[in-house]
Amino acid sequence: MLHHVLTVEDPQGFRNFLLNNMTYSLGRSLGNSIILRSNLVSRQQATLLAVASKKSSCFFRIIDGSLEGKRSTNGILINGKKRFSHILSHGDEILFSKDTKAVYQVITAITNIPKSNTSQDQITKSGFPSLNNQSFDETEVFQFSPLKSIPDQDLSAHIHKTINQFISSPELNPQPIIELNLVGKILYLNPAALSQFPKLEEMKVSHPLLQELLMQLVPLVNPVRKFFVREVKINNKVFEEIIHFMPWNEVIRIHISDVTKQRQAEAIIAYQIHQDTLTGLPNRKYLHEHLVEAIKKLENKKQQFAVLFLDIDRFKLINNSLGHSIGDLLLKAVCDRLKNLLKPDDLMVRWGADEFAIVTKAIASIDAVVQIAEAMIQALTLPFNCGGHELHITTCIGASIYPDHNTDVEGLIRNADMAMYRAKAEGQNSFQFYIPNMQEQSFQRLSMENNLRRALENNELLTYYQPQVDLITGKIVGLEVLLRWKHVALGAISPSQFIPLAEETGLIIAIGTWVLRQTCLQAVAWQNMGLPPIQIGVNLSIKQLQQKDFLSCLQQILEETNLDPHFLELEITEGIMMDNVEEKIILLNEFRQMGIQLSIDDFGTGYSSLSYLKKLPIDTLKIDRIFIEYITYNEHDRTIVASIINLSHSLSLNVIAEGVETQEQVDLLRSLGCDQIQGYFFHKALPVDEIEALLRAQAVTKPNKI
Ligand code: C2E
Ligand code: CA
Ligand code: CA
Repeated sequence: MLHHVLTVEDPQGFRNFLLNNMTYSLGRSLGNSIILRSNLVSRQQATLLAVASKKSSCFFRIIDGSLEGKRSTNGILINGKKRFSHILSHGDEILFSKDTKAVYQVITAITNIPKSNTSQDQITKSGFPSLNNQSFDETEVFQFSPLKSIPDQDLSAHIHKTINQFISSPELNPQPIIELNLVGKILYLNPAALSQFPKLEEMKVSHPLLQELLMQLVPLVNPVRKFFVREVKINNKVFEEIIHFMPWNEVIRIHISDVTKQRQAEAIIAYQIHQDTLTGLPNRKYLHEHLVEAIKKLENKKQQFAVLFLDIDRFKLINNSLGHSIGDLLLKAVCDRLKNLLKPDDLMVRWGADEFAIVTKAIASIDAVVQIAEAMIQALTLPFNCGGHELHITTCIGASIYPDHNTDVEGLIRNADMAMYRAKAEGQNSFQFYIPNMQEQSFQRLSMENNLRRALENNELLTYYQPQVDLITGKIVGLEVLLRWKHVALGAISPSQFIPLAEETGLIIAIGTWVLRQTCLQAVAWQNMGLPPIQIGVNLSIKQLQQKDFLSCLQQILEETNLDPHFLELEITEGIMMDNVEEKIILLNEFRQMGIQLSIDDFGTGYSSLSYLKKLPIDTLKIDRIFIEYITYNEHDRTIVASIINLSHSLSLNVIAEGVETQEQVDLLRSLGCDQIQGYFFHKALPVDEIEALLRAQAVTKPNKI
């Protein structure tokens, strides 16, 4: 059996309508069967029409405006699109105005509601409330709701009908009717009242149906306010009392109807609307309401709770390759494992396809949240057996803490979600807290730093090599090592992005050492393959040179790898001359004595004095790309480059032009007497195997003239 439910949300709150009739009119005016309580909607905004179909028993079409064809002022949006007529399907969202919307749902079974003793506002992982019918004793446990006054103009068709029934024939009315005066004397009981509540006559105003009614009513009544409702719950039955005060004779007439079934249906609908059918978990709508309640309760208390978002990595892949039924089995299995880790007060909901949200209350410390997250990640690392497939999954969890990371529902959810995406960037099986009060940039820094640490461990760093070509022979005479970071999730990250960070955090020491060792190993490997030995330049950070033990570290690497130091070149920037110049010169001389080549990188961009060049024990000068870029157009740049080349030659230095991209640049640099060039015109930095192929080809053929 299918049930069609419309959940309306307007400025007055949520209401569920079980759609049983063939037509419904929706709008602001009170004549509508579904009243939209907002001034922004039309008097008759829309109409719902039941349409019979062969496939399913019935479905609903929504049309803009009235059945007579009068359209609403602002129209209706279905799932964000303006529509005049639309056949509703499960989950469709209908927007009537800025503040009024509805969601249409088709609910299958209204059975199998988990039974629980919890009251409606205490729904936790243990389940949802259900009302069950037990034998009825009219005097047993009872409670009543506050009395609600209803202005005349708001009287619903249902109340009108109830009141009018009395006028016709109270004696025949199957609904109990009681009349009282203001001092609590029962004036009349109709036959239905007498038979359904036999104790009324004896108990009088102390009967649950009448208890405290006058106390609630008397302060409220006046000649204008005549209608009230309250609900009385007696022994699992719910009765609605429609109370009509007649000021002319000071009589109160109470119409009683048993609304137990209706309330049951509403509870069931509320349950269905808040539940995910696959896992049986509450859904995101429920999470939202749960958090609103949780926050309300905690206001002004010094308690914390955490919202965790968990996402299964590459779930789509499993779904697409093994089919949705296996995907569904996996989701259920994941849900079951996670459930085992929950405390009785925790809540877990299915947030999206492969996302779960967990609310864990009264956490003792932040560490406790880390432990929970780690336990969850751990529990899901064990393989799953789904339909005969052994599946291994990894997950990522993000968490936000109330009230530290946010105090409103949307914020907590958003921050937990954001933290989860950040965890994803960290790699598989990671956990991240939301980082409060931090700009996006600082986050990037922080997560980059963690990422970078891992990059070294996970072999995500690679050395690429850019050829340096002799301008006269056209031969590759040297290589420069350029670091590459292939991040699993973020792709290739440029060294200009992470080297400054590595320098700031000190990670450059470990990274620099790795590059040096890697380069030496590679150079030896190429030589062992029979390739002609070639000089390789490694970029050094000033931070590395400031390390006391750098020299011994370098010596050790050379010894370990057995590379002839003559094939190693260290590229240093002019910044090295900023302080402790004498000390640096001593160090550079030590390198020189070991046989290592030295070059000044990015020449022209840093320290402006050229006089120091004379003092430095260097072999090569690399002219920065900045001067080369416009060399063919800009006379000023051409003059600078020409004088750098002349100066270098006068100091017996080799000159390399960096960033050469065009034939014109090549020709001009050759005419200026530049020795070597490096740039995209020949090759970008290339991976090991491509360099290997180039060197091999060069060893057997005559290089092309350039
Ligand atoms: P750099 O030493 O000046 O390296 C040259 C940069 O210019 C490289 O960028 C290279 O790919 C790029 N390049 C080469 N030819 C051309 C060209 O024709 N046109 C253009 N537009 N660009 C060209 P990359 O690889 O992104 O490296 C950037 C910087 O990162 C390097 O600048 C260097 O300062 C630093 N770096 C790279 N690897 C390392 C390393 O292992 N250690 C240290 N400390 N720094 C490194
Ligand atoms: Ca360089
Ligand atoms: Ca450079």
